[in-house]
Amino acid sequence: SGTDQYLVVGNPINHSKSPFIHAEFAKSTGEVLTYEKLEVAKDGFVDTMSAFFAGNGKGCNVTVPFKEEAYQFATTLTERARLAGAVNTLKLMDDGSILGDNTDGQGLVADLLDHDVALTGARILLIGAGGAARGVILPLLAHQPKEIIIANRTASKAVALAESFNVHAKSHQSQITACEMCALEGEFDVIINSTAASLSGERPAIDADTIGSTTVMYDMAYGVGETSSNQWAREQGAKQVIDGLGMLVGQAAESFYVWRGVRPETQRVLSALRQSLA
Ligand code: NDP
Repeated sequence: SGTDQYLVVGNPINHSKSPFIHAEFAKSTGEVLTYEKLEVAKDGFVDTMSAFFAGNGKGCNVTVPFKEEAYQFATTLTERARLAGAVNTLKLMDDGSILGDNTDGQGLVADLLDHDVALTGARILLIGAGGAARGVILPLLAHQPKEIIIANRTASKAVALAESFNVHAKSHQSQITACEMCALEGEFDVIINSTAASLSGERPAIDADTIGSTTVMYDMAYGVGETSSNQWAREQGAKQVIDGLGMLVGQAAESFYVWRGVRPETQRVLSALRQSLA
């Protein structure tokens, strides 16, 4: 016995906001636990996790570059983790097995809904075809958008990603297709930038005609000041621009729920984080 322990592991991990977020969640829900960050050597993931779960470790968040290794490490996977091809949440189950889940997509959807963005029937443009894009598709489809169009700098990756979700889209009365970045037509209700472009002050090369007065631009990146892609979208007359800080808090809340069965309130933590970035 002992206090339930949780971790976030990655490399690097120094700037992770997860310990702050989960400490606030624990405080507000009255759950008794510890949550720390741990930098793990690039070849040390499996050994670190095995030792952690053999002790008082109950759950772990996993970030870059270990999400695929966590996927392999898990004994069983949720459907959303399986389809994401990546795990950001590990949970020790009562029978000693390790559940692998992925809460990133639900974090995005929760943040969009918190901003009153309608997803049902929406025409959605998803830019990027990396791990972050893959992880959000199933949670988006669950809200039955009219269609999701994927565009990526490397077009072949967008085609492969769209194809791999074709069946799921149909079962949600939706459709998913890929399109060349330069060939996008018409305005979108929601544009989600899942690329790493904003991290280097760049933006995806989409045409301004994709943005109308009712378009919402969501950039998964966040940081001090407005992201380059959100600034551009605002200048093109987008109705609303949102950065990825709420997605970060949303995925944390979903992981907390997976571990503890309690749903923490997110807005106060989000405001505190927002202030710390101002
Ligand atoms: P990946 O490395 O798997 O994918 C990166 C994607 O970005 C690819 O589609 C890549 O295109 C594209 N890209 C990179 N640089 C540029 C550029 N300059 N112009 C256009 N496209 C570019 O990364 P992830 O998918 O795991 O993560 C992407 C980003 O999502 C992260 O940087 C992070 O900011 C954000 N994120 C935020 C989260 C949150 O909670 N807010 C959670 C997870 C991710 P190509 O295929 O052509 O190389």
